[in-house]
Amino acid sequence: MATNTQEQQSQAGRHQEVGHKSLLQSDALYQYILETSVYPREPEPMKELRELTAKHPWNLMTTSADEGQFLNMLLKLINAKNTMEIGVYTGYSLLATALALPDDGKILAMDINRENYELGLPVIQKAGVAHKIDFKEGPAMPVLDQLVEDEKNHGSYDFIFVDADKDNYINYHKRLIELVKVGGLIGYDNTLWNGSVVAPPDAPLRKYVRYYRDFVLELNKALAVDPRIEICMLPVGDGITLCRRVK
Ligand code: SAM
Ligand code: CA
Repeated sequence: MATNTQEQQSQAGRHQEVGHKSLLQSDALYQYILETSVYPREPEPMKELRELTAKHPWNLMTTSADEGQFLNMLLKLINAKNTMEIGVYTGYSLLATALALPDDGKILAMDINRENYELGLPVIQKAGVAHKIDFKEGPAMPVLDQLVEDEKNHGSYDFIFVDADKDNYINYHKRLIELVKVGGLIGYDNTLWNGSVVAPPDAPLRKYVRYYRDFVLELNKALAVDPRIEICMLPVGDGITLCRRVK
């Protein structure tokens, strides 16, 4: 039987593991959410993919389980059918999406790295949802430019999840606003950027956090004044801003 100290240490370890994903002030509270309502309801394939991803050196990039649960429910609520994802990594948010869509639903998924996608692919295949995914390896921008060129793609997406190169979000937005349908949603991920959006200028930030911070701040300002959308910034995961196209 584990001693109290051992138990406390393992709890602390788990909090650390998930703490970076939480913008709540209390790791214990975040752990409570995960253990009470997220992990017990997490579909088996998502659990398998989460555990597989945890062993990968870049696991910090994965979507957290609570955000995966949120995306899955959101997609069902809006009856999404035609969707897009920019930034796949090993596919946790992709799987959350694929499981929520009807059998003839579609996800255009893009990432510059195919290797990581292929790491998670066997789990997605086993879950029986791989047929919904059209994976394109390479930078997303040229694909978006191509899609925008053809008018029949305009207003054709129900949901678009953007979780890739933060320095391009504003450029993605210019194109995505054409591609999402009126009444459809774009979700920009990591818009609270590790809490750094409110850090004082001299705060000690990791190099990549500091580098992308200004782009995130610019995006947040631009979305807040964009009359083509209604927005809602949620403190889920690392912050997700939902944009509903209204015109
Ligand atoms: N949504 C993923 C998940 O649930 O695990 C996490 C995505 S991770 C934070 C960001 C991903 O964006 C990386 O896999 C990276 O290779 C990809 N990426 C970076 N620049 C990109 C670009 N220009 N076009 C497409 N994908 C890009
Ligand atoms: Ca993210």
